[in-house]
Amino acid sequence: MYSEVNILFKPTIWIKNVLSINEDFLNRHGLKGLILDLDNTLSMHGSPAAEAGVEQWLADMRRLEIKMTVVSNNTRKRVTPLARELGLEFIAFGCKPLPFGIGKAARTLGLPKKNIAVVGDQIFTDVIGGNISGIKTILVEPFHLEDKWSFKFKRKIENAVFKRDYSKLERK
Ligand SMILES: [Mg+2]
Repeated sequence: MYSEVNILFKPTIWIKNVLSINEDFLNRHGLKGLILDLDNTLSMHGSPAAEAGVEQWLADMRRLEIKMTVVSNNTRKRVTPLARELGLEFIAFGCKPLPFGIGKAARTLGLPKKNIAVVGDQIFTDVIGGNISGIKTILVEPFHLEDKWSFKFKRKIENAVFKRDYSKLERK
C-alpha cells in the first residue's frame, strides 16, 4: 500500500522551472505536448503577468511544434486574461488531482499519453493528477515562494513527507 501511494506522489521528472524545458529535454523524454499549470508554473500566484522569460519560452516551444494547453484549478476570472495574453487554450476549475480536466486537455492535444507531460508546482494537484491519468509529470519549483499560511502549511507537509528542499530558493 505504502509504495502504491508513494508512486502517486512521485513526479516523473523534477526541474527548476519551465525554462529548463528545451529541445534536448523534450527529445530525451519523448514529449510533444505539455499540459501546463498556471499559478507558480507560468506566473506568480495571482499575478496578471507571466514570469520573465516565459513568453520567449512559449515561442521556443511553438517553434518546436510542441502542443500546449493550460489546466488550472483557479477560477475563469483568474485564468482567462493571462491564458489569452499568452495565446494558450485553457481549462479553469480543472479540479486537479481529479483526472477530468487533465484527461480533457490530453484529448484536446490529440497526442498519445506517452508523448504528453503535466507540468506544475504542486504534488497534491499536478503530480497526483498526472499520475492518476497515466501521464508523465514534471514538477517545477515555484518561481516565488508564497507567504499565505495555507501555502506555507502545504509546503511544510510536502517538505516533510517528500523531502522537497526549498531552503536553497531565494525568498522574494
Ligand atoms: Mg500551481
